[in-house]
Amino acid sequence: MYFTDAHEELRLQIRRFLEREVKPHLAEWEETLFPDSIFKKLGDQGLLGLRYDPEYGGQGGDYFSAIVLEEEMAAAGAGGLGMAAAPPLNKFGTPEQKRKWLAPAISGDMIAAIAMTEPDAGSDLANIQTIARRDGNEWVIDGRKIFITNGARASWVLLVTKGDRERGHKGYNLLMVEKGTPGFSVTRTLEKLGMHSSDTAELLFEDCRVPLGNLIGEEGEGFKQLMWELQGERLISACGAVAGAQKTFEYAMDYAKQRHAFGKPIAEHQVIKHKLVDMATKVNMVRAFVYECATRWDQGDYPVREISQAKLMATQIAVEVADEAIQVLGGHGYMREFPVERAWRDARLARIGAGTDEIMKEIIAKTYGL
Ligand SMILES: Cc1cc2nc3c(=O)[nH]c(=O)nc-3n(C[C@H](O)[C@H](O)[C@H](O)COP(=O)(O)OP(=O)(O)OC[C@H]3O[C@@H](n4cnc5c(N)ncnc54)[C@H](O)[C@@H]3O)c2cc1C
Repeated sequence: MYFTDAHEELRLQIRRFLEREVKPHLAEWEETLFPDSIFKKLGDQGLLGLRYDPEYGGQGGDYFSAIVLEEEMAAAGAGGLGMAAAPPLNKFGTPEQKRKWLAPAISGDMIAAIAMTEPDAGSDLANIQTIARRDGNEWVIDGRKIFITNGARASWVLLVTKGDRERGHKGYNLLMVEKGTPGFSVTRTLEKLGMHSSDTAELLFEDCRVPLGNLIGEEGEGFKQLMWELQGERLISACGAVAGAQKTFEYAMDYAKQRHAFGKPIAEHQVIKHKLVDMATKVNMVRAFVYECATRWDQGDYPVREISQAKLMATQIAVEVADEAIQVLGGHGYMREFPVERAWRDARLARIGAGTDEIMKEIIAKTYGL
């Protein structure tokens, strides 16, 4: 219903690429992070700009082509790479800015990051303290960002700043800061529960000066722009959660058919059988809803309530499914050498990143006038 022959062809291309270039290295990358060179390989395959304008090296595809990529990454257990492979900037940059920064990120010659979160402000973005003030023909930036994906290796960071601490949502500016700009440093990379192949960094900006032309979009409108970008990101996150959960369910089911206890396959014990049925049913239900939202989004609709609901449910179900899969595998499920252990750790992030469960509920509540 949702995927055309072209999407299915793309799916096969991605699957072949992942089999060849990614899957053999996943275990190693859990220890070492994936190498920067993978961006160029993704870029050569056209996978960093599936939805983007061909003028900047993109493939000009629809939203479902991005979904195919996310689904295949998640199903391959390469979520750490998947979360790193989506350069922002498409919607709001000027043509000149896109040529300079987006095009090389699409080709894989540059690596992109987006930095919103701060040590003292994550969900409550209105409270960020990174200030960018005008000084002659430059912006002068002071502040700190945390939990930034690709932060340590990024060639450029799309930075969320405030012009004025007092102006709430009206005073935000999105600024482009390139690696090597004096005053911009990576203070540390962070150890985390899952998504070990991806780097997550803390960034510091001290008297960091960038040209006025590094403002992305309209002055003072950064918050609105950010919210728009975040809707697409939340939907993609929901799609990845569903695809990951499907794979985890299938793995647990195959295991349960093979593993014997008390004289029969554990899948024939009703409790295990029903667990598997519950997993599959939840995944199928939420997938239908996620695809429906994605269709509306792709058609230019802005269904904030449904996107928030999709993200909330899909990511919770993915964690539940991974948790139940560990239970189905018993002691084996808790071991590193079985994929459900990592599936659980990796899935957990999506209930926090791009807006927590609780923030999704706050957004949904508002749409009902609550
Ligand atoms: C691996 C990883 C990668 C990330 N990558 C990026 C990135 O690339 N760029 C970036 O900018 N950020 C990134 N983040 C940050 C992520 O978006 C934030 O962690 C997230 O938005 C939550 O913010 P916080 O951690 O400050 O939690 P807080 O905002 O401190 O929230 C703590 C708890 O309080 C709850 N809470 C907060 N407000 C409310 C409320 N009004 N009602 C009810 N409950 C509430 C939250 O839901 C949460 O449970 C990443 C995070 C992780 C873990």
